[in-house]
Amino acid sequence: MDNPNFECIRHDIINPIYLEVDQIYNLACPASPVHYQVNPIKTIKTSVMGAINTLGLAKRVKARILQASTSEVYGDPEIHPQTEDYWGRVNPIGIRSCYDEGKRAAECLMMDYHRQNGVDVKIARIFNTYGPRMAVRDGRVVSNFIVQALKGEEITVYGDGSQTRSFCYVEDLVEGLIRMMNSPNGFTGPVNLGTPQEFTIMELAKTLIRMTASSSRIVFKPLPQDDPVQRRPDIALARERLGWEPRVALADGLEKTIDYFRKVV
Ligand code: UDP
Ligand code: UDP
Repeated sequence: MDNPNFECIRHDIINPIYLEVDQIYNLACPASPVHYQVNPIKTIKTSVMGAINTLGLAKRVKARILQASTSEVYGDPEIHPQTEDYWGRVNPIGIRSCYDEGKRAAECLMMDYHRQNGVDVKIARIFNTYGPRMAVRDGRVVSNFIVQALKGEEITVYGDGSQTRSFCYVEDLVEGLIRMMNSPNGFTGPVNLGTPQEFTIMELAKTLIRMTASSSRIVFKPLPQDDPVQRRPDIALARERLGWEPRVALADGLEKTIDYFRKVV
């Protein structure tokens, strides 16, 4: 904020924006299910109209554009781990589709602007990411469990906790995004960015109870509709094309995240 070359502009990306820029990171869109489902129409507008406007901008000023896509484009996957050439299994009319289909449409727009107008596009598919400075009420599993454990509240496991996710520390993810943005001309991706170590949600709950020395007990809540059963990225492409892989082990990343939440809850 103190850097004289930094300018922060508040703008809703569903409306056009005229700027002079070299690189555009289109990260707009809430990513936590509870947040993106509050106003699903706004969520899909953000992804679709946001992609159109940022692509129109990229085309006009000849900027490179990176789209933050998501492992959600794979939906509830039938192949494991997920590789970029897998087309996914997404419910087009479910409560997650405002996010999943919005991001899929954004990928489609990126590739069409690339093929039709020669826009220099980059697509990164981000898998579950966590770390310090997540909102206390973010609603995703890592922050929920840490906040519940620190407050001695019940740990809310949805379903039986056997569903899996693979968690990436925020610093690793940011490094991956920057490498993707600055990757060679013509490499559009999509490329998976995530950590290829998979944990059940129950394992995560137990790990966090232990790490916080919490007295919280685990309670089971209904599994949300269309909640993916299993998710793990194949990151061979990111390794090969970006020389990237995550460096921070889950235990270290969780430790830093717990330290952060101790200060704010
Ligand atoms: N756009 C923008 N900033 C720009 C250029 C375009 O926000 O600097 C928006 C504008 O709303 C436009 C959209 O991006 O409708 C798509 O641009 P494109 O040039 O593809 O479409 P067109 O202007 O031909 O409809
Ligand atoms: N989850 C849970 N308890 C919570 C929040 C999430 O058991 O308090 C589960 C959720 O059902 C899902 C997994 O944890 O299976 C990851 O959920 P999250 O919302 O973090 O991200 P998703 O990968 O589903 O977008």
